[in-house]
Amino acid sequence: MTEPARDVVPAIEPVRLSVRGGGRFPVRRVYCVGRNFADHAKEMGAEAPASKAARGVPVFFAKPADAVVTGDAVPYPGATQDLHHEVELVVALGADAPAGVLDVEDAQALVFGYTVGLDLTRRDLQAVAKARGLPWDIAKGFDASAPVGELVRAADVGTLAPRALSLEVNGERRQSSTLYQLIWDVPEILHELSKLFALRAGDLVFMGTPAGVAALQPGDRCIARLDDVIELHLRITPPPV
Ligand code: MN
Repeated sequence: MTEPARDVVPAIEPVRLSVRGGGRFPVRRVYCVGRNFADHAKEMGAEAPASKAARGVPVFFAKPADAVVTGDAVPYPGATQDLHHEVELVVALGADAPAGVLDVEDAQALVFGYTVGLDLTRRDLQAVAKARGLPWDIAKGFDASAPVGELVRAADVGTLAPRALSLEVNGERRQSSTLYQLIWDVPEILHELSKLFALRAGDLVFMGTPAGVAALQPGDRCIARLDDVIELHLRITPPPV
């Protein structure tokens, strides 16, 4: 008689987000959109599309699911002298997409809810990667690079577009934009992602950041907000020694 095979290392539990009103949301994958606000594309030296028709295809990258952190302390990472904040709307999927390409009209039905998060970025490493045509993983996908807030059900957030996304650092406003400014809105992004990946319940999508990205230092205190609906408080702690 053979014994059933056992795990030879401990299996990793998923990161779980708290859901307002009760429950937990286990994270499966983390997709991110680059250059989804024209003012930020410009500040990064990229060309912003002149019109919706000229916007081409979105820029996507991913972070490991265990880069998501839910506490209020985020360690300053190693290997960088230029850690940047990017405040973003984060979409949480509550259902699997059907096989094939998801229609824009059907995409909203997959959305469980929203939160705000920071797409933390080692900007110095990203600049080198861009200059050399190398992948962005070490600039974007490091440990604790995706702090997020409490998840709020879609029905409790209501219409997204007029809502304002903002970030304060040490009491000073650094980033602010309404979601009218998104080049690709949530259903359009889910449609585009479904051409590339099988979308599933548990997936998160970071929707891109408006202008005003800048450096963070150990000791900084950040407040990310989606209007008065969602608020995320963070402090950047010294790097582990
Ligand atoms: Mn970003």
